[in-house]
This record gives sequence, structure tokens and C-alpha cells, in this order.
Amino acid sequence: MNKRVVVLGAGYGGLVAALKLAKGTPAGSVDITLVNKYDYHQLVTQLYEPAAAAKRDTEVRIPLKKLLAGKPIRFVQDVVTKIDPKEKVVTLEGGELSYDYLVVALGSETEYFGIPGMKEYGMTLKSVDEARLIRTHIERCFAEYPLDPRPELLTFVVGGAGLTGIELVGEIADWLPRLCEESNIPREQVTLYNVEAMPSILPGFEPDLVAKAEEVLKAKGVIFKVGSPIVQVEPGAVHLKDGGVIQSRTIIWTGGVRGNQIVVDAGFETEPRGRAKVNEYLQAVGYDDVYMAGDCCFVLNEQGRPYPPTAQLAIQMGNSVAHNLAADLQGRPKTPFVPKILGTVASLGGRDAVGKVGNNYKTSGRVAYFIKDLSQIRYLAKIGALMK
Ligand code: NAD
Repeated sequence: MNKRVVVLGAGYGGLVAALKLAKGTPAGSVDITLVNKYDYHQLVTQLYEPAAAAKRDTEVRIPLKKLLAGKPIRFVQDVVTKIDPKEKVVTLEGGELSYDYLVVALGSETEYFGIPGMKEYGMTLKSVDEARLIRTHIERCFAEYPLDPRPELLTFVVGGAGLTGIELVGEIADWLPRLCEESNIPREQVTLYNVEAMPSILPGFEPDLVAKAEEVLKAKGVIFKVGSPIVQVEPGAVHLKDGGVIQSRTIIWTGGVRGNQIVVDAGFETEPRGRAKVNEYLQAVGYDDVYMAGDCCFVLNEQGRPYPPTAQLAIQMGNSVAHNLAADLQGRPKTPFVPKILGTVASLGGRDAVGKVGNNYKTSGRVAYFIKDLSQIRYLAKIGALMK
């Protein structure tokens, strides 16, 4: 009987692992099943664009039917509810799957840090559906205002100025003039806040890149409140630690991510933020038949700190998992995973961006945007999304 490989999650890590495994193993030698909640692959790094009406939802959502066409991969659209690594069984909402090898690539969840009201009243940006909700919510605020002119309808708050928050706030800032024009509302009546707990936006970025990003976004009308943690959210109000209150009908929370609860509940060894520990081959601790890729696990950098959970890391992990799993199946030696961080670029809305490529090359403006775009096109070509 063929070995059964089950891949959980068709995000960056899981999709790449499944595609590469299908390519790297002789036809008919392994049964690959890919499980995903949606019947499409989401370009999560681009979600800020449909959230701010800069792209259509269909541009960041690629049907799996297209990506898996002609590939020896069985697709199961279902929701994973439980993993039992001792019994080698995965429970789905609609049934169960047994496996010989498992690839867990279930991504991350939003970290709310226990902030009262944030989960109930904040919106998040982790899926195409959530991007659509943000877009339609903002449009509705503009539609309601002329009929019921309350300032909180035109006050928008993005909580967190990490990469997700900055990219989103930049794109919303670019969208506002169009919304104002359509609704016949003066731009001065609209306020867009980006609230950050740390003393500066883009924590971890070098000061000159932070200054550049701040300059560009302030010029677009973004108001930053830094060193100003959000401590509570109520319907219509965002409370800050310094006692300030922002009256707003819109809080979009980009304050952080944590691992996936299913991975924690399965009993895999995890760190305090729920990400699983893996060995050099990306196998879960204590389970040689379970590989992991993407945000649900972590690997350490040279300073002994976890690499941030990014798409580029997830893609590289997916490749490595496929390589090592094929090696297991074919009795070859495995290769340790060594991340190659190519750089980080943050979009600032429109065709503007700021970031670092390699170790030293800093870039901004259209060139930075072009570099970001190019890496996206390379990825799309790799997964076969550019084919008709
Ligand atoms: P993050 O954890 O990187 O940033 C969250 C921000 O929210 C931090 O700056 C944090 O200080 C702030 N914050 C936390 N609590 C707060 C509070 N109570 N009030 C106000 N601010 C608060 O999360 P993210 O931006 O969603 O990014 C998640 C991961 O995805 C990161 O590893 C990031 O590098 C990656 N990412 C990369 C890109 C890119 O490469 N262009 C884009 C988006 C995300």
C-alpha cells in the first residue's frame, strides 16, 4: 500500500509542501491529501489591498482547483478540529483521516493579549472574507454619515503598527480621498489613527526606514499614536493606557499573532505563544512522522530568537518539508533546514514601500514596491498561478 501523506492547510507552507512533494516523488508511489478550509489559496500578504478596495477579492484568492489541476494531490475541503499524533488520526468537521506522514501547516491565530472587548468589537485581517468585511464596513460608515453625521463614523483606528498595521493604514489612507469624493464629505472630517504600544512604528525596523515610513504616511494624513497601548475596546470607543479615548466605530486589530490552538491541543511541544518546536528537519519534537511548516511552528535565528512568522519563511519551510519527506519515503538522508531571509519590504499604500533587501541594501519608494511586487510574481509563477 502507498504511504499516505496528509497535508493540513493550503496556505504558503502547506501548498508549497504538497506541490513539491507531488513533483519530487515517483508517480503513484505516495497518496497525498491536502486539507483546507477554503477551496482557494489566499495571498495573505496582499490582504490589505482588497481591505482598502485597491484590488478585487478574486485577485488575492486563487482556486485550488486551478493550482492542483493534473497533480497527484487529492483535495479535501474541510475544517481540521483535532490532531491525534499518537493514533495518527486527524479529525475534520466532516470525518477523519489516518496518515503515515502528516504535514501541519495550519498557520497562526490573532493574539488579543486579553484586551477586554478587542475580540468582540475589533476586526482582523487574516482572510479574504475578513478583508471584504473591513472594506464593506468602511464603505458603510461613509454611507451612514450623511444621514446621521456622528464623527465616530468617520474615525478609523488601526491597532498595531507592525507590518500588517502599516500596510493596511497606508492603503486605507490612499482610499480615503476616493471615498470622500463619492460621499461628498470633506477629507478634513475623516480621521485615520494608527495606534502602537511601542515607542515607534515598525518595531525592529532601522530608524531611518521608520522615519521614511512615518514621513510618507503622515503626508497621507495618518495620525500616529505611539507608546500608547490600547487597553480596552467598547462599541464606539477605543481606550488607551494614557487615559485617552478615541470615539470610533472602527477598530481593526493588527496587534500580533500566535500559533494555532489545534497544534497546542494536540500536545505538541510549544512555546508560550503556541508555536510548535521543531527539529532541524522541521519534524515535531518526538514525532518523526509529523512535519511542520509556516506560522504554526518556529525556528531560531543566530541570536537564538524565533524568526518572525513570514510568508517567505513559510514557503522555504514548505520546500524543505517536501524535500525531507521525500527523502524519508525513498530512504535517503534528510537535509537540515536553513532559512535564507531575503529581506523585508513594507508597502505604504499605492506604489510606495520601504524595506531592506539582503543584509544591507535599504530601499524605499517605487523601487522598494517593485522589489516586493517581483517577489510576489516569482511566488505566483512557482505555484503555477500564472498559467491560464
Ligand atoms: P506584529 O506582532 O509584527 O506587530 C504587532 C504590533 O502591534 C507591534 O508593533 C506591537 O507592539 C503592537 N501592539 C501590541 N499590543 C498593542 C496594544 N495593546 N496597543 C497598540 N499596539 C499594540 O504583527 P503583524 O504586523 O500582524 O505581523 C505578524 C507577522 O507577519 C510578523 O512576523 C510580520 O513580520 C509578518 N508580516 C510581514 C509582512 C511583510 O513582509 N511585508 C507583512 C505583514 C506581516
